[in-house]
Amino acid sequence: MKRYEAILFDIDDTLLDFKQSEHVALEQLLASYNVRMTDEVKERYVRINSELWRAFERGEVERDEVLVGRHTKLFDSLGVRIDGPRVEQQYRDFLHAGVHMVDGALEIVRTLSEQYPLYIVTNGVTETQFKRLESSGLLPYFQDVFVSDATGSQKPMKSFFDYVFERIPNVAPEKGLIIGDSVTADIAGGRMYGLDTCWFNPNEVAATIESTYEIRHLHELKSLL
Ligand SMILES: [Mg+2]
Repeated sequence: MKRYEAILFDIDDTLLDFKQSEHVALEQLLASYNVRMTDEVKERYVRINSELWRAFERGEVERDEVLVGRHTKLFDSLGVRIDGPRVEQQYRDFLHAGVHMVDGALEIVRTLSEQYPLYIVTNGVTETQFKRLESSGLLPYFQDVFVSDATGSQKPMKSFFDYVFERIPNVAPEKGLIIGDSVTADIAGGRMYGLDTCWFNPNEVAATIESTYEIRHLHELKSLL
């Protein structure tokens, strides 16, 4: 096994179950506007949100357009008038209040941190991601945390990885491994930058891009690394 000098972890749906936190936060948000979250409403939100984040990854829209736009689009479709930025703040408050761990995350991070310098690389909102890392107990195991809105660009952009590797002293990208669930952000981004990649694919989706490793459960990292 290659001896890695830096291991870069994605957060959402890799270490923390963002889908579960998002589900609960959205349910609470809708309830505060007297809207019941049906499967259809939920699916609509997920589609709107992921379309906007994809556009953000391609550099087509600003972060704030994603954060506010997802709510205005959803509530528009439900015929409810809202104040977008205010709703985003309410949503974020709900999101901060609940953190759900991916099975095995804390244990594997604790174990790997004894052998490797670990870093966080995430597309998201700095305040949210720090709060979630803190309340999950994961934060102390990481040397540094790189959140896209503080770096000025996002995975999979080269400039995001440039920013990260300028701040990880004396480690060449070839000595790094990125672990994440997103084919577009983590795997394509990591490959493009010369990192080894580990695709966390718990739902066994068919691969559309080659990765160095593929795992279904985080505990598989123990035998890989
Ligand atoms: Mg992710």
